[in-house]
Amino acid sequence: MFPVHVSYTPDTTIDQALSSCKMNNLKDNLHKIRARISSACKKAGRDPQEIYVLAVSKRHPARTIQALSQLGQSSFGENYVQEALAKIKLLEPLNLEWHFIGPLQSNKTRQVAQHFQWVQSVDRLKTLRRLSDQRPDDLERLNVCIQVNIDREPQKGGVMPEQARKLAEAALNLPRTRLRGLMAIPRAGSDLHDPADSYQRMNVLFRSLRADGIEMDTLSMGMSADLEAAIMHGSTMVRIGTDLLGERPRNDKN
Ligand SMILES: *Cc1c(COP(=O)(O)O)cnc(C)c1O
Repeated sequence: MFPVHVSYTPDTTIDQALSSCKMNNLKDNLHKIRARISSACKKAGRDPQEIYVLAVSKRHPARTIQALSQLGQSSFGENYVQEALAKIKLLEPLNLEWHFIGPLQSNKTRQVAQHFQWVQSVDRLKTLRRLSDQRPDDLERLNVCIQVNIDREPQKGGVMPEQARKLAEAALNLPRTRLRGLMAIPRAGSDLHDPADSYQRMNVLFRSLRADGIEMDTLSMGMSADLEAAIMHGSTMVRIGTDLLGERPRNDKN
């Protein structure tokens, strides 16, 4: 569903500011996303304050992130460890909140545990244990969402819905992780599939785990194309890439 990663050459400094035209674009995008969230919340009878906006900045250069942070956006999602670490280091003075949302191999858990505040793509007990073991003592617990493969797609990350409970309980009990909730990337919309359907099943799962006493506050679902449907079905965090930062650059600089 997501394009193959194109090699990313990190910025070494943020030498170029964004042009005022690009800055205005970002401002515009941010307003439009907020307006869409407000209108979706109105329809769903929800309070827009309940919806957290994560800006997905994969493949976008550090200066775009910096510009968006100047406009008030402070949390960013990244999919590739090496690429993310370069940006995190460069933007350290800005005190941004970083969410890891990509596939996580166990040989990369240490860097993620050291440099991110959240990991939303946990789908294996082994990875989860490593994240807890490797979370530095001087940092707060690592916020964790369990990724659920809600449409049981073979190529996609995430646990099967019926396995979410076991992993959520593990995250709740490990010493250095803090269970925050569930994350899902549904099957792409088509004539045969309405993502609203997937979001609705995620909402049922989320509520049933909570009803069983598994404490969590985050249902991370909804992207540029379908944030309205996700909000209608209980999302508390939308992850917006394209409609916030623009088309993802095909290569490193753009
Ligand atoms: C890329 C990505 C997004 C953002 O997708 P857009 O359609 O560009 O908004 C959200 N979530 C995850 C897990 C992603 O990998």
